[in-house]
Amino acid sequence: MNEPKKPDTVGGATTSASNFLRNIIERDLKQGTYAGRTFAGTPGDAAHHAGQPLDPARIRTRFPPEPNGYLHIGHAKSICLNFGLARDYGGVCHLRFDDTNPEKEEQEYVDAIIDAVKWLGFNWEGPDPADTQSTRSHLYFASDDFDFMYRAAEALINTGLAYVDDQTPEQMRATRGDFNTPGIASPYRGRTPDENLARFRDMRDGKLDDGAAVLRAKIDMASPNINLRDPALYRIKRATHHRTGDQWCIYPMYTFAHPIEDALERVTHSICTLEFEDQRPFYDWLLDNLCSLGLLAQPRPHQHEFARLNLTYVVTSKRKLKQLVDEGHVDSWDDPRMPTLAGLRRRGYTPASIQLFCERIGVTKEYSWIDYSLLDAALRDDLEGKAPRAMAVLEPIKLKLTNWVETFGGDPEHLEPCQAPAHPQRPELGLRRFSLGPEVWIERDDFAEAPAKGFFRLFPGNKVRLKYGYVIECSGCEKDAQGKVTAVLATVVPDTKSGTPGADAVKVKGTITWVGVHEAVRAEVRLYDRLFTEAQPDAGGRDFLSVLNAQSKRVVAGYLEPSLASSPAGGKYQIERHGYFVADAKDHAASTPVFGKITGLKDSWSK
Ligand code: ATP
Ligand code: MG
Repeated sequence: MNEPKKPDTVGGATTSASNFLRNIIERDLKQGTYAGRTFAGTPGDAAHHAGQPLDPARIRTRFPPEPNGYLHIGHAKSICLNFGLARDYGGVCHLRFDDTNPEKEEQEYVDAIIDAVKWLGFNWEGPDPADTQSTRSHLYFASDDFDFMYRAAEALINTGLAYVDDQTPEQMRATRGDFNTPGIASPYRGRTPDENLARFRDMRDGKLDDGAAVLRAKIDMASPNINLRDPALYRIKRATHHRTGDQWCIYPMYTFAHPIEDALERVTHSICTLEFEDQRPFYDWLLDNLCSLGLLAQPRPHQHEFARLNLTYVVTSKRKLKQLVDEGHVDSWDDPRMPTLAGLRRRGYTPASIQLFCERIGVTKEYSWIDYSLLDAALRDDLEGKAPRAMAVLEPIKLKLTNWVETFGGDPEHLEPCQAPAHPQRPELGLRRFSLGPEVWIERDDFAEAPAKGFFRLFPGNKVRLKYGYVIECSGCEKDAQGKVTAVLATVVPDTKSGTPGADAVKVKGTITWVGVHEAVRAEVRLYDRLFTEAQPDAGGRDFLSVLNAQSKRVVAGYLEPSLASSPAGGKYQIERHGYFVADAKDHAASTPVFGKITGLKDSWSK
């Protein structure tokens, strides 16, 4: 058996390494709960299960998205959990598409989900117990098991555990009862197995209209758990499925299909979010009955629930995310303001930062809100040591160095070469080279005609250092007819260049960043902020669109240092004083540079 990883800690907090699911898995491994599992003897007939050997000592988990939308940061929690547990315990995690609802599902989503899980750093290759030198793919589709599910339904009918109900959906809703009132049995509940079988085959053969009947489990209309009041198993739906086409006009309900998929794939720990806690008795009822009927083999999978991720300033409902895209509140599914994995990726979040975040928040059974600043901190912790540094001016004003010609031997064309480390702690990344000329771009708010107390940057009579360049002394400014400052004036203090013996001769309290006008790369810079103005956008039933942040995207024309001209799309940098930026994965090109702000240098999210 593989040794589980020892718990580690991040920032004093115990990580997910010691979560309750690990305790369950370790108990199961110790007790051999899933030992003796084998595919042989499992009558599941789907081609991808047949004849496959199984290593009983391994745990199997699965990540089961429905291909009806893009994955978001909440899914990342589930992905990191399921794939992470399999990795840590030497097991296998399946990627399974829960494609039982043909109307809302599309190949586009399947492709995007595969892409996102891979990007996050996980894969569904598992060791092949038949040949320890090789691996095999564990990518599954619920629809591959439709034949088996149909047979399971007939078996339940034959044993009197399921019946076809011809009531209207309204009648079924009205007779379900509620927490205080038991349900009322359907008049069709007493049909014989033969009648039910004939009727179910009529459903399958297209002899009944959509919605005219459903197959229901026959359990207990008085159960205190409403999920056990004869839940629906199959419905009629004439819809083309993205994989099975028009082969079926009946489709299994998710609650029926899901446990069967887990069992056929020989999953051990079926980990889901807490909303499914009330479904667990049905999960157990179904699998135990199908095992008794000889359709499935013991030991069967068990379901375990954890609390879903709620992140401040973010909505994670697929329906709401779709609405943001469809109504044009954002530009696309991968808009850098979206909490989709595609959006986070384009925003500049790294797989390592998302994995780190998921590790830090851990897994519990308590509902809570996680502060967005934790995601941001994980990003900074990842990028700080990796991202090359650069200078850029985002709200530019021109600075004219009026004594340039005299200072540099009467040559008006003179450019003074400057250099800076690509990363202050990583000399192996080399140097960035740029040059200082008679005119440079600086930030407009680095100049104040009448400075407030404590302002140490440019104002008439004050000296500052142009970072990696010279000390300069401000002499005034130029203004237009309306009195608006149009340029700042200063003189170079000779012999004060950074890295030369004279650099410390003049002490200054301020250092400012700059880019030479002669070599500045003009770029579109997209400044992103939170998409919602409220931490819990849909709290208390509020319309989340009413708290959209109108300032969530601001576009400025900035000037970048020349080293950024050759950035590949997706390149990430720490722009000194401004934060982390990424060359936009879609829109950036050397001829038309487009950069987006990932996040600032400091936390701006927590209260
Ligand atoms: P739907 O309402 O369409 O079912 P969903 O968010 O549940 O949306 P699925 O594709 O069914 O989407 O989710 C796949 C898996 O991701 C499920 O196991 C689900 O429990 C998990 N998941 C979804 N949202 C979160 C979240 N916010 N935190 C943790 N896990 C999540
Ligand atoms: Mg779901």
